[in-house]
Amino acid sequence: MPLSSAYAEPERKKPRLVILDRDGVINEERGDFIRTADQWRPLPGSLEAIARLSRAGIPVAVATNQSGVGRGLMSAGELAAVHDRLLQAVSEAGGELAGVFFCPHAPSDHCRCRKPLPGLLLQIEAALGLAVAGQYMVGDSLRDLQAASAAGALPALVRTGFGRATEQRLAAQSDVRIFDDLSVFAGWLLETG
Ligand SMILES: [Mg+2]
Ligand SMILES: [Zn+2]
Repeated sequence: MPLSSAYAEPERKKPRLVILDRDGVINEERGDFIRTADQWRPLPGSLEAIARLSRAGIPVAVATNQSGVGRGLMSAGELAAVHDRLLQAVSEAGGELAGVFFCPHAPSDHCRCRKPLPGLLLQIEAALGLAVAGQYMVGDSLRDLQAASAAGALPALVRTGFGRATEQRLAAQSDVRIFDDLSVFAGWLLETG
């Protein structure tokens, strides 16, 4: 084997999965729980970004903490109605979601799926049969990035939602990639991936 091959750039593999946080990444972060489909408002360009990933053949899954259920502030049915709206909106934009995975628990439940723990990402891995290691998880909060790292995924931060505040909390030497929004992330991933 020629010596130079040992120093060659590692071949970048095509992305096989993208995991997205919901609030502040796909839709507006209200700073409160979204209880009805009417309260669910997509961020500019987010649905088109998902559609671009879908057209490129990359499965997109959502991983979201929804403790409003566990806190008794909304019902599982109300959350399901919000997710129906999300799925419909993505579909209308020409995209597809491989699944919407949520943690319904309150912090006091001490579950394994509430981010920053990696349980939700591991659920995605098991349900879709796709490894999350080495794949991007996009979020606007520190706990999204921590869940990504804990599962071996690659953390990406968007500056929408809580993203700008989260950026201020990142260490200078952080390995987190930062994008203005989901649209910029998708463009970058499709160009470099
Ligand atoms: Mg969020
Ligand atoms: Zn949970």
